[in-house]
This record gives sequence, C-alpha cells and structure tokens, in this order.
Amino acid sequence: MCLEVTPMKASHPMADIVILGAGVSGHTAALHLSRLLPKGHKVTVVSPNSQWNWIPSNIWVGVGKMTKKDVVFPLAPVYARKGIDFVQAKATSLWPRGDADDPRPAVEVEHTSDSRRGQTERIRYDYLVNATGPQLKFQMTQGLGPHGGHTVSVCTAEHAVDAAAALAETIATLKAGTPQTLVVGMGHGTCTCEGAAFEYVFNVDHELRQAGVRDRARLVYLTNEKELGDFGVGGMTFAESGFETTSELWTGSLFRERGVEAILGAHVDKVEPGVVHYETLDGTRHTLDFDFGMLLPPFGGVPLTAHDRDGSDITSELFAPSGFMKVDADYTAKPYEEWRAADWPKTYQAVGYDNIWAVGIAFAPPHQISRPHKSPNGTVIAPSPPRTGMPSGVMGKTAALSIVDRIKRGPSAPNHEASMANMGAACVASAGTGMRTGSAAAMTMMPVVPDYETYRTGRSLEDTRGEIGLSGHWVKLMLHYLFIHKAKGRLGWQFIPE
Ligand SMILES: Cc1cc2nc3c(=O)[nH]c(=O)nc-3n(C[C@H](O)[C@H](O)[C@H](O)COP(=O)(O)OP(=O)(O)OC[C@H]3O[C@@H](n4cnc5c(N)ncnc54)[C@H](O)[C@@H]3O)c2cc1C
Repeated sequence: MCLEVTPMKASHPMADIVILGAGVSGHTAALHLSRLLPKGHKVTVVSPNSQWNWIPSNIWVGVGKMTKKDVVFPLAPVYARKGIDFVQAKATSLWPRGDADDPRPAVEVEHTSDSRRGQTERIRYDYLVNATGPQLKFQMTQGLGPHGGHTVSVCTAEHAVDAAAALAETIATLKAGTPQTLVVGMGHGTCTCEGAAFEYVFNVDHELRQAGVRDRARLVYLTNEKELGDFGVGGMTFAESGFETTSELWTGSLFRERGVEAILGAHVDKVEPGVVHYETLDGTRHTLDFDFGMLLPPFGGVPLTAHDRDGSDITSELFAPSGFMKVDADYTAKPYEEWRAADWPKTYQAVGYDNIWAVGIAFAPPHQISRPHKSPNGTVIAPSPPRTGMPSGVMGKTAALSIVDRIKRGPSAPNHEASMANMGAACVASAGTGMRTGSAAAMTMMPVVPDYETYRTGRSLEDTRGEIGLSGHWVKLMLHYLFIHKAKGRLGWQFIPE
C-alpha cells in the first residue's frame, strides 16, 4: 500500500522539498531541483558537514599527493547562489504522516553548526529525498579504524590526511633501512567499495617506488572477495583483441607485475596494534603482522528512526535491518540462482510513501551482486553491492526529475526510472597524480548489475573494458576538476554528465 500524499493544496501552493545529505546523490538532486523548479518552491538541503567532498580524490590525499583543500569546498556559498536553503544538521527521525502538532510530514534534525550545535528542529516537507550515504561501521570489527583503532581510512578527507601522515612515517622508516609490511583492503567480511582499496594499494605501490623503498616493503591486499577482480559486482568479462578475458586475470596480472600479495576471501574480526586477525573462506584463522594498515569499514545506513503521528515506532516499515531505506526493489529472499536484474529498483521511491525517495548509498539493495559465501564456521564473507559515484549521481537526478514532474504536472505524473541493471559505471584506479608519471587501471562496465537475460556474459562486451596506461590517469584527473566544477554549480555544470 502506498500512502498518497497530495502536497499541492490551494492553501499551500508552493512545495517544500527537503534533501537529506549533500554528497554525490543529494547535492546532484539539489542542483537539478533548483535549476528546474519555478521560483517559489523551496529546496532545503540538510547535511551535518559544512563542506562538500569529492570522495574519489581522497585516495590522492591519502598518499599526500593532494591536500584536504583540493578535495573539499564550503557548501553554503553554492547554495546561496542557487537559492537553496542549507541547514547544517543531521537528520535523526522521520515523521512521514506528520505528528501530533501538524499533519504535514516532517524530518527531525539536530543542528551541528557551532552556533546551534545540539538544537533540534522539525522541518516540514512535501517531498523528501534521503541521500544520507553510508554509516562507516568501524565498530563492527574490534580495533578497526582511526577513531581509537589501529588502522587508517580514506573514507573522509580528514581520515585521508591522517592516512597520508601514517604512510609518510612508514616510508621514512623504510628509508632508514627497516623493512615494513603495509596492508590495504577490507576491514570486515561484508565490506563494499573494493575499487577504492584497489586504487589505494596501487597508489601506495607508486609512492613506495617513487621513494625508492619498494624493495624493502611487503605490500598486501587483504579482501573479502573470493577472487581478485570481483569488486563486489561478481567480476567482469572483457573483450580484448577478439578474445575474452576476465577481470580476475586482468587484476591478477596487475598485482603480479607490481609484486602486491593478495589475501582473498578474508573476514577481519579483530585488529590489535600491529596485528590483523582474520578468518578465510576455508574456515581457518590467521594473523598478519603489519606496520601500516588502511582497511575500509563495512557500510550501513545512517541511524534514522521513523514514527507514526502518535510517536509509535514505524522504523521497520521504511528501513531494512541494515539501516538502508526500502524502495521499489524486490526484497523477496531467494537463492543466488534466482537473482534477476529486475530485482533492482528503478524509481527509488520509498515503500509505502509516494513522496519519499532514497538514492545513492541510502537505498536498500535487494541482495548482493557477487555470489555470497560463508566459511564452514558460518561467517558470511561476501562483498556488499557497490553504489559508486556515477550511479549515485544518476539516481539523485532521477529523483529530482520525478519531483519536478509531480510538481509541474500533478500527482499522476509517472516517476522517472534509472535501474542499476541499465546503468553503467566507471572505476578509474589511478596511481600517482603527475601528468607524465601517473598511470591508471581503468574499468568500465555496462550494466552494473549483470543481466544474463540480455547479455551472454551478463554485461555488454562492447562497453565493459579494462585498460591500463597514462590516458586512464588523465581521465581520472579530468574527472576531479570536472566534478568539482559541476558540484560548484559553475557555468555549464548541467551539461557535465553525472
Ligand atoms: C575512498 C573512496 C573512494 C571512492 N572512489 C570512487 C571512484 O573512484 N569512483 C566512483 O564512482 N565512486 C567512488 N567512491 C564511491 C562514491 O564516493 C560514492 O558512490 C558516493 O559518494 C555515494 O554518494 P551518496 O550521495 O550516496 O553518499 P555520500 O557522497 O557519502 O553523501 C552522503 C551525505 O549525507 C550526509 N549525511 C550523513 N548522515 C546524515 C544525516 N543523518 N542527515 C543528513 N545528512 C547526512 C553526509 O554528510 C554526506 O553529505 C569512492 C568511495 C570511497 C570511500
């Protein structure tokens, strides 16, 4: 059942659109809404950080090749220019049927700016976009992460600054002649974002070579992927000079050429100072001594609760147990063999509410993309499905277009659609930032979610590729500047694709 909300009443002719989150998907939605809506409608962005961060370039901050300033900028001036209200706060609860004081739907927020820190407020909305991204769940692995743990991270610009400092220290120790072990990868069996760890290991390898200390360093890629090249998308088949090859072979040869060791099918369950404890898919337990560790955390949805008008808890109606919001996906539990491209959402409209959308990392996927595995001890070791930048931006725009149509054409206007089973993605794993010395392993795939009914190998062989070389590096560098230009809403931003 879908609760029909009819916001355009005569007494309230202008719509209030509230977007939770100012990352890739939420910021994209906000810019398009401000561009396409007639004057008078109100677009409000709620986000706890005052700054926008181009997260993919955190990798370069994490090896000291870019500064934090290169990858962030303040949101308020952009929103002021675009006529968007900005509330620096974190959303804490949804009231999708209103509350005892007011029947209009609301979101409760807690302010995070210095001047209003801790104050709470309920913001009324007609349309809501949940684009809150991931909760970084370092706490799922004891001793993981930069907040009291023993490993670094590149998930935020601040984390990446600390990672660069730790790496510089390790390089200094290597230069002094002491061998060091560096481990990069996944801090839990259910992590996603393998592409980011893969890119970081390449960059670390590049830095070690540039510093002239690669021969004294043991570099280990530790991952929950069963095979190299899985990337949480079940791997890829590439066509190359008339032959077919796999992302497993491609990735394996890149690792061999660079002397990077791989530990596959691993679930890290504890990190102590200098020691990673992990279990592998065969059920055996291991330890790895390390001097530098960059292990990504598992992701969950940000902790939001939902309430009925009387205050009763309806969180499970809107959110999956993972904390991600339930949308128009097929959540029926079924075995891997029965997974279909059609299981994946198209409109990102929330279950039961026709005025709420969840985009980017915030929506609950129907299941993994890679085949899930368990160790004989019952430990789940399976990459979660990635929702990379390009699909996240496209989803933000899709929700914005649906809202614009609803406002302009009325409640019967159909939703726009953008399924990850029809959408491509690009992952450019760069190494080094120099125009002449950089290199990159560039992968493109179409679609992200394999569709075996349409394509023999699950994906289009013309549009699914793996390439290595300097040109991929230029692409990554160009994307850095293009996306920052776009996010600042500068001249012609709307013509730069998501
Ligand atoms: C290190 C790293 C490298 C990456 N590299 C690439 C790459 O090369 N290519 C690629 O395509 N993708 C890459 N990704 C993935 C990409 O960053 C994500 O796909 C993208 O950021 C997802 O967009 P999003 O809007 O869902 O979430 P985010 O961009 O994370 O935005 C979430 C927003 O919600 C805000 N928020 C959080 N909690 C609340 C709350 N309670 N209330 C309101 N707002 C809240 C946050 O402050 C943030 O503004 C990388 C990711 C990482 C971690």
